Amino acid sequence: MTKILIVDDSEDNLTLTSLVLQRDDYEIITAMNGRDALRIAQIDLPDVILLDVQMPDLDGFEVCRRLKGESDTENIPVLFLTAKHKDIDSVSLGLSLGAEDYIVKPFSSIELRARVSVLARLKNQMDELGNKNQQLESANQALADSNEQILQAQKALEQMAITDPLTALYNRRYFTERLSEAFAMIDREPVVIHLLMFDLDHFKKVNDTYGHQMGDAVLLQFSHILRRAVRKNDIIARIGGEEFVIAMLNIPSDRAHLAADRIRMEVEGYKFEAEGYSLSVTTSIGVASYPDLQLENPTLETMLHEADEALYYAKSHGRNRTVIAPAPKD
Ligand code: GH3
Ligand code: MG
Ligand code: MG
Repeated sequence: MTKILIVDDSEDNLTLTSLVLQRDDYEIITAMNGRDALRIAQIDLPDVILLDVQMPDLDGFEVCRRLKGESDTENIPVLFLTAKHKDIDSVSLGLSLGAEDYIVKPFSSIELRARVSVLARLKNQMDELGNKNQQLESANQALADSNEQILQAQKALEQMAITDPLTALYNRRYFTERLSEAFAMIDREPVVIHLLMFDLDHFKKVNDTYGHQMGDAVLLQFSHILRRAVRKNDIIARIGGEEFVIAMLNIPSDRAHLAADRIRMEVEGYKFEAEGYSLSVTTSIGVASYPDLQLENPTLETMLHEADEALYYAKSHGRNRTVIAPAPKD
């Protein structure tokens, strides 16, 4: 039920105004001074407040100013009951304080009822608008939440598309894309590219002897050795079952070749432990460096081919070694 707070320091006025408004379907509450009015307004949150202007202590204007200054009560329509009908300044002051309307005493009961009913309707509409706003806000929030979820899922999908599930290193496709970009720059600016190609030695034996699970564990631990050995800008990828490649850009050749052989030695000394086993594995490495290799056609494919030849040479000459391309012809 619509709740009306009537504030007046005259008991007669309160009774009279209440009687008039009781003809409509309102719940009426009253206050006889400004302080009580503010307290009751905060607690009961009426829908309309009728405010006498002239009251001792806090007058109606001050009460209105305070009501409009509090978030709980700022939206409650205020109707001034003023005897100062000749004082146009006082009316405009009241309205400038945020009051919605005023009525001059003595008022006609028809006019009072009409004005209060307009304000009650106004309040009702504001409440509905507030509710709709809240619904809109929570719908907006839900939308933002699901957008965020979609974004996260998209990121995860993108990540999955470019990485190898076992080691989380980049896959061959991503590596090819990234390096093709680097090779496309070769004509425009000086760039140094080293490709370090790794293939585990006799890896089939690991699987055959200790099982595929152990084989997977070795591949994962091997990938960790590679990660630890590289700098931030290097690109590591798993390009085949037990084949890995590292691209090192813009560092001197001796450093890249040293890095390759350090990795080889670290793998040689590493104990691969999993599934209750502990074993040693070695890796052969082929390295191709541009522009050291004076290739007619320096592309990713020709460089990978050179690294592969060097790797093959390492395999056929005892394994567990690093060979720098071009591989000797024998
Ligand atoms: P080499 O020294 O000449 O390289 O001998 P190798 O046994 O390492 O080479 P080969 O190419 O004969 O065998 C590679 C093996 O790697 C065969 C395959 O079962 C195994 N392999 C490939 N991918 C995976 C994988 O994801 N997990 C496991 N556990 N094994 C794999
Ligand atoms: Mg008075
Ligand atoms: Mg192998």
